Amino acid sequence: MNKETDVKNYFRERLIEWYEPGDRPMPWKESKNIYHIWLSEIMLQQTRVDQMLPYFERFVKRFPDVHSLAEAVEDEVLKYWEGLGYYRRARNLHKAAGLIAERAEGDAPQSMKEWMELPGVGPYTAAAITSFAYGQPNAVLDGNVFRVLARFFGLDVPIDTSQGKIVFSKLANRLICQKKPALYNQAIMDFGATVCKPANPLCSSCPLSDQCLARLGNLIAELPLRSRLPNKKKWKITYCHLHDHHNLLLVRRPSEGVWGGLYELPAFSGKREMAKWMRDIFDLKLPGTADPVRIRHELTHRQIEAEVFSVRVKKLKEVKKESCVLVSSKMLPKFALHSLMKKYFAIFTSD
Ligand code: SF4
Repeated sequence: MNKETDVKNYFRERLIEWYEPGDRPMPWKESKNIYHIWLSEIMLQQTRVDQMLPYFERFVKRFPDVHSLAEAVEDEVLKYWEGLGYYRRARNLHKAAGLIAERAEGDAPQSMKEWMELPGVGPYTAAAITSFAYGQPNAVLDGNVFRVLARFFGLDVPIDTSQGKIVFSKLANRLICQKKPALYNQAIMDFGATVCKPANPLCSSCPLSDQCLARLGNLIAELPLRSRLPNKKKWKITYCHLHDHHNLLLVRRPSEGVWGGLYELPAFSGKREMAKWMRDIFDLKLPGTADPVRIRHELTHRQIEAEVFSVRVKKLKEVKKESCVLVSSKMLPKFALHSLMKKYFAIFTSD
């Protein structure tokens, strides 16, 4: 056995020895229920386990299997997702459920390739599902795994390049334990989340420390390498909170794009455009003294600066526009609002 193989064996064995399943209870794992595993993997993208658990439980209570999810209307699915963010995940999950339900006998796909043909399922999710549900030796590669591999093996290939993805993917698939792929995948992800953390990794108690190249070479802070830093786009939005004593107007956003399918107040590119809309549709003039509520909000790729004008009228009329709905204030909690809108209504109702 050569040195390279020895190091890989050391890495794999120490990691599996370190891992103690049960430290982090994950109800969907024990059941081997493919729908539960798939749903949990989608919910866990961008969300921590403790945050997603109550959502998972509520979701499976209402949509206990892929068929009940496929038959539901998108608005209801989004409502059950409300608060988890990244709503594209919910829309893709719903679409994918429809596609699975249409398959012969409604069976879930078996291979990674088939899973990746479904909307919202990339290589990471497909590897996780097929290893956890079917025991296939497909290595997961998420931010935690990239970090652990880059540090332990001292890899200085940027992880956000196509070359980096190939290098890391090949290494990850050579390392995976063929006999216990699910256990290994879970171990490496948990290890990255709890020991080899982005900041202040626990090197002094790390079971891999005596062969970790980043630690030996003092490169922990530098690895993993990235070719570029995310540059957030700035986005300015003007909202009009037009309301009377009982009602307000909401608009459903288009299904695709940011906050797709969620509800918000009528939105404009600026105050002038909003004033024209108020004049043309409602014959209203925005008072010169109107003072908006200003909200800053961060999304993964955007930095939003929103201003919200609250305009109270005597009697609000319905607008004949497909995406515009007249909503009674009491019914507002029934609508799936996006995170920025929730921030605004929390401010508005606390005043
Ligand atoms: S020694 Fe430190 S950097 Fe290396 S794998 Fe362990 S926790 Fe990560």
